[in-house]
Amino acid sequence: MNIVFIALGSNLHNPIYHLEKGIRQINHLPNTSIIKRSSLYKSEPVGPKNQPNYINSVIKIKTKYEPIELLDLLQDIENKHHRKRIKKWGPRTLDLDILLFNNIEINSDRLIVPHPEMINRDFVLIPLSELTNYNFTIPKYGKLTKYI
Ligand code: ADP
Ligand code: MG
Repeated sequence: MNIVFIALGSNLHNPIYHLEKGIRQINHLPNTSIIKRSSLYKSEPVGPKNQPNYINSVIKIKTKYEPIELLDLLQDIENKHHRKRIKKWGPRTLDLDILLFNNIEINSDRLIVPHPEMINRDFVLIPLSELTNYNFTIPKYGKLTKYI
């Protein structure tokens, strides 16, 4: 089984509803289950400021899917939430980002892991710290606690 951390974010049409539903949909994927989930956090938007605040969370899952298969499935779930990709960092009903996939590094056109922005985002680092121990290290970047 692969161990994967996923960041969830939403800032439109009842964000908590979208997050909770997204978590259930991930848990229902075949050969996939949620091991732990963080608390929900409120954050201010990255990029354009004229949009509502976000609600964020991180989950830890185990899954049999390979990275690209999992990305496809997460994008299907985003699409079921009627997510429209209008502008970079614009408002969205549900964003699902793969933060970490086992201890591997991926650098392909569609997928970069560890997620390149994760170390700069408190709304990812703080919930991730809830799910990991003090010595947790991020491939390529080092100890999580360095960034908090
Ligand atoms: P963002 O999350 O940066 O606001 P999107 O959710 O619209 O933007 O994703 C844009 C593209 O980012 C996706 O089509 C996907 O192929 C790519 N991508 C690269 N690395 C990752 C990752 N670790 N997790 C999710 N998507 C990723
Ligand atoms: Mg995304």
